[in-house]
Amino acid sequence: MMTSPKIIAGNWKMNGTAAFLKECLSYWQGLDLIHDLVICPPFTLLTEANKNIHLSKVSLGAQDCHQKPLGAFTGNISADQVKETGCSHVIIGHSERRQYHGENNDLVKVKAETAILSGLKPIICVGENLAEREQGSALEVLKNQIEECLPKSPEFLIAYEPVWAIGTGKAASLKDIEEVHSFLRRLIGPYIPLLYGGSVTLENYKEILLTNNVDGVLVGGASLKKEDFGRMLCDQ
Ligand code: PEP
Repeated sequence: MMTSPKIIAGNWKMNGTAAFLKECLSYWQGLDLIHDLVICPPFTLLTEANKNIHLSKVSLGAQDCHQKPLGAFTGNISADQVKETGCSHVIIGHSERRQYHGENNDLVKVKAETAILSGLKPIICVGENLAEREQGSALEVLKNQIEECLPKSPEFLIAYEPVWAIGTGKAASLKDIEEVHSFLRRLIGPYIPLLYGGSVTLENYKEILLTNNVDGVLVGGASLKKEDFGRMLCDQ
């Protein structure tokens, strides 16, 4: 069954070269895209990516931005600088940022507010870790993240990314995705797009996109496979 148009975001993390990006964009844009692509390469490739985006169904996202609008923060990138590269989106609060850079819910909220002020749509990541899932406290953890992370303005997306499913090859079951997404939907209301992320592949993306309250997917590893990702974008 063909799915209705959804959002497919690709998070390249710290991978990719300018040449590979150009090759992927020209390949994907030559296809008959069904879904909307948000491609999120590393900062260094954003300007080049923007020059090579020629379709309204393809947009650009960064993987993070700083919480302050500008200043003495060596090595960081501001939301305005991200916006200036041509981005429309920015991933905020990815579990790898939370794990390796000590980002917490309070910081995620400030970053999301800053991004929105700069005209970007944050894709705010939430998700329980394995211990929380095994203890049966996943929904409680998610409720807390939603209460603490969300900005006032509704100009954002949510990505539900169970930490134990990211990069492990073990996606959440459809039952768990459906349970969490309907729970999140009740918390955030009908209009905020809700993406699922965590080991989405060519093999499982269709049934995930057909799950209730799933408006799209956030894809890590598989977004670096040009042909597989292209087939996801075309719903093949
Ligand atoms: C991610 O990085 O957000 C992600 C979901 O990665 P993967 O698809 O590789 O699990």
